[in-house]
Amino acid sequence: MRRMATTLLYHRDPLLLTFESRVVAHGTHGSRPSLILEATAFYPESGGQMGDHGTVRVDGAERKITDVQIDEQAQVHHLLDDGPLPAIGATVSGSIEPARRRLFMALHTGQHLLSHSLLEVARADTVSCRLGETACTVDVDVPALTERALRDAEAHANAIIDDDLGVYAWFPDDAELAALPLRRRPKVNEHIRVVAIGGKDGEPLIDASPCGGTHCTRTSQIGVLRVAGSEKYKGKTRVTFAAGARARRELTDEAAALRALAAELSCGPLDVAAALTKVRSDVAAVSERMERLQGQVAESAAAQLATAHPAPAPIVAVLGDKALVRAIGARLMSYDGRHALLAAQDGDGLHVLCVRGPGSTFDCSAFLKRVASEHGGKGGGKPERAEGRLPAGVDWAALTRG
Ligand SMILES: [Zn+2]
Repeated sequence: MRRMATTLLYHRDPLLLTFESRVVAHGTHGSRPSLILEATAFYPESGGQMGDHGTVRVDGAERKITDVQIDEQAQVHHLLDDGPLPAIGATVSGSIEPARRRLFMALHTGQHLLSHSLLEVARADTVSCRLGETACTVDVDVPALTERALRDAEAHANAIIDDDLGVYAWFPDDAELAALPLRRRPKVNEHIRVVAIGGKDGEPLIDASPCGGTHCTRTSQIGVLRVAGSEKYKGKTRVTFAAGARARRELTDEAAALRALAAELSCGPLDVAAALTKVRSDVAAVSERMERLQGQVAESAAAQLATAHPAPAPIVAVLGDKALVRAIGARLMSYDGRHALLAAQDGDGLHVLCVRGPGSTFDCSAFLKRVASEHGGKGGGKPERAEGRLPAGVDWAALTRG
């Protein structure tokens, strides 16, 4: 049995936020019971746009609408919070959550404007779009977009927002439809709704597309459009954008983060990049100086250790720093006929390094493998140099005497 399609009040007036209608049926959507009204101003999720939220009131009791969906017979299913559904035949007062509706109107109209701008500025044709709860994207049929093209498209869209042009939605007859320069082909064959930016009362026609969504009635209601960036996606380019209240929140949040960073760097927000370049070069200079000083320390420590442990005994030391142990080890590899057994104490054990100089026949790798297998550690390398780890509590000085 074919059921009556729900009358869609938002098609006529996207700013209609309260309405009254009769309950005509109880339905189900997915596994949830749903309320079907004769007419509704609630936008059901479709065409990449999320459904409205809000309330219905019946006999003084208010119920939350948590989701709105539309089925193949064009009946709109209102999904309510837990509780019995209002009786069939009852009249309910519906109320749309205004901030969410206004946001999606701005995002949707912003998407039309951005798709037009990307076509105008970069010959990039929109193939699909999504207006999500947290992010909005437009996919265009070009392999890449330059930062310059994104900025130009954003500026183009914002100029049209400032022009405060009318945005019109209507169902043209066949002759009028045929004469309209539609940006994309309709997805349905009859009852085609067109959304146009400009084109009436002497305004230039900026964009005309078939669309069933809720849109602003003037471009200035979009407020601002911002392009956050783009990425390659399956041979195409995905552009991320925001409009209206969401764009303002993103911009103010990012500005606050930038100001906090600027305060840390004791500079203005626009000087952060220059300040960071200076910090990077300061860090590079400090680490170069550190390396030079560590080289000098290692040089003199190597000489002192060699004197303190005369040949043929090995040069033995336990230090506090792995990098210093490696630096000293590197220098001791030039000491003729000597070998060194060095260790660095750290949190969970000993980092050990064995090296030998020219003329020494000591096998560093064999020594370390034996010690590691006897004490539950690990290590290895070459006869000239071997490195490994031993568990905490191993007495390195005693071990190297054997
Ligand atoms: Zn639209």
